[in-house]
Amino acid sequence: MATASPRIVSRGDWGANPLNTPAGNIAIPTPNLWLHHTANHSLHGASGMRSLQSYARSNGYVDLEYSVCVDTDGQIYMSRGIGKDSAATGGNNSTSHAVCAMGYFHPPYNDPVTSALMDGIASAVLWLKAQGAIQQARITGPHRAAPGNSTACCGDGLVAKIPDIQRIIDGGGGPAPQPPEEDDPMDLASATNHDARPVVFQVGGDAKLYYRIRNASGGGWPTWKDLSGGKTGFATVTAFQTPFKNTTKIEVWVTMKDGKTFNRWQTDDLAGWEAWQDKTR
Ligand SMILES: [Zn+2]
Repeated sequence: MATASPRIVSRGDWGANPLNTPAGNIAIPTPNLWLHHTANHSLHGASGMRSLQSYARSNGYVDLEYSVCVDTDGQIYMSRGIGKDSAATGGNNSTSHAVCAMGYFHPPYNDPVTSALMDGIASAVLWLKAQGAIQQARITGPHRAAPGNSTACCGDGLVAKIPDIQRIIDGGGGPAPQPPEEDDPMDLASATNHDARPVVFQVGGDAKLYYRIRNASGGGWPTWKDLSGGKTGFATVTAFQTPFKNTTKIEVWVTMKDGKTFNRWQTDDLAGWEAWQDKTR
């Protein structure tokens, strides 16, 4: 869901070097906001931000360009931030902020424009407006529409989605909901409790893990319980019964967005859950 107060990974948390941007100041609120892409298929996450920054500096920029970057999982990363020359949109940088999507949204890669990315971009725009950085909560256009700029940025695939992103920003709900795809970070699994009650597990839209056990005697479902155990960033879940003494306990395996794998199982009294074990291959 798009929000005006999204979680933004700070420069310190993604490992920016230098920590504070040396970019010059511009007057806010700016009339314009241009949408960019990194035109890089493989660089994502905090390590991607570090690589992109390092590449920008090796090309003579004082810092990675852009005000903020948004990854395909919807996570927003602070780049130069608010009220700073973004160095992203030639000839327009004193009158604009710049949001950059992390990916390559035209041939040969045609990275998919995920709903998470669209929500993340919408959240970045709402946040910039709420912080007084831009005059309107509106994407002025793709980089290639900016006066005096000759570029394919931000790629045909993402350009085509700007009206949908703007609808999300406007609170119009964006495109119709689509069923989750196999690699979407909302996964569902089921198992059977020792007392034969069915149990359902889900990775929530907040990337935490939840479960619910059907009431005894078929009486409906109580609310979701948090099974995250202090972790976040769940991607997929599977669950099954495993033999235990004269009964069974449930064991849960998860993969995380960072590629790690963990499992945990019910305690011996079948009333709680043991700690996560790292089973990363
Ligand atoms: Zn661009």
